[in-house]
Amino acid sequence: MIIDGRMVAAKRLDLVRKQVDESGCRPCLATVLVGEDPGSKMYVRMKHEACEKVHIISIKADMPATLTTEEVLIKIRSLNTDPSVDGILVQLPLPPQVDTSRVIQAIAPEKDVDGFHPCNIGLLYAGTPRFAPCTPKGIMTLLDEYHIEIRGSRALVAGRSIDVGRPMAALLLHRDATVTIAHSKTRDLREEMKRADIVVSATGKARFITADMVKPGAVVIDVGINYLDGKLCGDVDFDHVKDVAGAITPVPGGVGPMTIASLMENTYKAAMERLCTNVP
Ligand code: NAD
Repeated sequence: MIIDGRMVAAKRLDLVRKQVDESGCRPCLATVLVGEDPGSKMYVRMKHEACEKVHIISIKADMPATLTTEEVLIKIRSLNTDPSVDGILVQLPLPPQVDTSRVIQAIAPEKDVDGFHPCNIGLLYAGTPRFAPCTPKGIMTLLDEYHIEIRGSRALVAGRSIDVGRPMAALLLHRDATVTIAHSKTRDLREEMKRADIVVSATGKARFITADMVKPGAVVIDVGINYLDGKLCGDVDFDHVKDVAGAITPVPGGVGPMTIASLMENTYKAAMERLCTNVP
């Protein structure tokens, strides 16, 4: 079975648009882009396009690549206190002279729709997520849409980054999977992977998960965005793994569209929570 992220994302965006329309309020997402990286500019543009589709207002803070950490922090603080802004998204990576963790920690946790603030990561690990990071949240939506059994399953997450691997493991654990986190120092990835009913790969290594590493019938979720000979591909050798796996996401068209759909869900949630807490 090929898991169709585009189809599920379209469905979720439709749902957010209906919720926004019915709520009678227009949530607002502010994006912060520092520099001119073409990939980052493309992602920010896609996020603004998604906002338009679901009737969320989006505003841009595009800033030059030469800014210091302090200058970025001033912008974040002004967005934190701007009552018309519900969600703040800082497009990563930031230029090398900017301290990324200081910037993330400066975002008001209740506006942190990417879910990277330590408060939100803490809530996630405590089992009471507020804003789950968008990529892992989108993967959970895909698993649920395709009725994939999570409870009691063995899950292997390859990658331990703060945006994908770690929150992914927390969400799977929260849903009663037995979770292993593999990373670059894992001794025998093949051995770990062979036992997994659900594999989530977020290593950024082109086509490095091969058919012989995957348990027959396993669900394989490919987060990787890599380029090989100028062609976009995932971490998984899709053409061969698809014959062994029970279900698999393609790249493109798998996890990617879900990340943006989840961002819209988080922004809507941020707006609703702020609206409710602002009620006298
Ligand atoms: P990262 O570089 O921060 O983390 C990569 C992780 O892979 C590290 O934790 C590292 O320990 C692990 N790793 C490296 N080699 C390994 C190996 N041989 N075995 C096991 N683990 C290994 O990257 P990231 O931000 O987590 O992103 C990972 C990939 O996912 C990238 O290709 C990125 O572009 C992609 N990504 C896609 C989306 C999406 O929406 N589709 C979102 C975020 C990231």
